[in-house]
Amino acid sequence: MSHATPHFFDVAVIGGGIVGSSVAYFLLRESLSLRICVVEPDPTYEFASTLRASGGCRVQFSGDENIEMSKFGIDFIKRFPDTMATKERPAPVDWVEGGYLFIVPPSQLPVLEASVRRQQAHGCVVELLSPTELKAKFPSMHVADLGAGAYTPHDGWCDPNGLLWGFRRKAVELGATYLQAKVEAAGIDRVKARSITLSNGDHVRAEAFVNACGAWAGLVAEMFGMKLPISPMRRFEHYFTAGSPVERLPYVKDVARLAFRSEGKGFSGGLVDGREQRGFNFEVDHDYFERVVWPAVAERFPAFEGAKCHRTWSGLYEQNELDGNPVIGPWTNGLPNVYTVAGFSGHGMMHAPAAGRAIAELVVHGEYRTLDLARLGYPRIVANEPYTEAGIV
Ligand SMILES: Cc1cc2nc3c(=O)[nH]c(=O)nc-3n(C[C@H](O)[C@H](O)[C@H](O)COP(=O)(O)OP(=O)(O)OC[C@H]3O[C@@H](n4cnc5c(N)ncnc54)[C@H](O)[C@@H]3O)c2cc1C
Repeated sequence: MSHATPHFFDVAVIGGGIVGSSVAYFLLRESLSLRICVVEPDPTYEFASTLRASGGCRVQFSGDENIEMSKFGIDFIKRFPDTMATKERPAPVDWVEGGYLFIVPPSQLPVLEASVRRQQAHGCVVELLSPTELKAKFPSMHVADLGAGAYTPHDGWCDPNGLLWGFRRKAVELGATYLQAKVEAAGIDRVKARSITLSNGDHVRAEAFVNACGAWAGLVAEMFGMKLPISPMRRFEHYFTAGSPVERLPYVKDVARLAFRSEGKGFSGGLVDGREQRGFNFEVDHDYFERVVWPAVAERFPAFEGAKCHRTWSGLYEQNELDGNPVIGPWTNGLPNVYTVAGFSGHGMMHAPAAGRAIAELVVHGEYRTLDLARLGYPRIVANEPYTEAGIV
């Protein structure tokens, strides 16, 4: 692009991770004539959260929107290789229907039961298992201190890299332009955002701007003069083996935020510490597994007494400090052509298909046509009214 000429697009998507690429794809699926650019500085996605994710997809939420976004996402991901292959490339995502299991102590049983009822009301297959039933199904698990577990056999996990590149390649095939640059500033007037300035000096004008910058979304919002309470929060993921034989496990999660699943001959997972200091910190604490994860996993599954951690990596949650749920929609009471789709707080891979579709509907039709996500909009941020998930997040 020349430095002198401003370039024009209908929609400029800022951030080309899984969320931004999904937005670009769904915009073009709504209307092939749209001129879409995706501004993404790093085609290797070295620090992007997407490539550091563990790939889990589950309907086990308490909020209606989250449950429905998961239902759509899981169905979309299952069909992904068929629907998202391009003329040049297949679109494998290695979907594993391994199931999810949320386990709770007796004190949390009413919360889990309420979530299960809510998921069932949305048509999800969920089994509430007593400690005895849990033991019968997962013999290696210590269950004496548990109240129950909720098992969703049709949940699972996939390869986040395959999903991201599938979206990106399909969006490009449909006509999206990926610009390899960083957005550094925004040009606004009193009623609308008009342009963005890129790190290569180019100015891009657009009718609408979509902030899909994940953990960087707060910084990008500021460029438009918008306050967004989304912070980068480091968390670790580990690949480990058990030490003794264990039956094949679903994605297991507990109230202390221990979460892990089978991966090849071993397991992938971690234990999220929500008190982690916020910041763009990718340093790895190589003692974290031994100190925090191993005691938790070995207490629940004694077969992990001899567990060995082979690899630890860090990644950022795009943490919505208000309520841990995403912000999806226009900047109401601000510049209405600035849209946000960020703050998934650890659920952004599984919700990227539904969130991308939602933004596309809003931009193209000015309203939701499928799933109404109004309750996840920016007004709750302005009103400082959290819309929180109950139980395990
Ligand atoms: C360890 C770990 C495990 C996880 N496990 C799961 C899981 O099991 N299931 C699940 O659903 N989610 C999971 N997540 C969360 C998930 O990874 C994120 O919610 C999701 O990847 C967010 O996607 P994104 O596209 O918004 O962000 P990203 O993938 O981070 O993409 C944002 C992009 O914005 C770009 N960018 C930044 N600044 C600018 C700028 N100024 N201009 C232009 N571009 C910019 C970046 O280069 C980046 O590529 C996990 C996260 C971590 C860290």
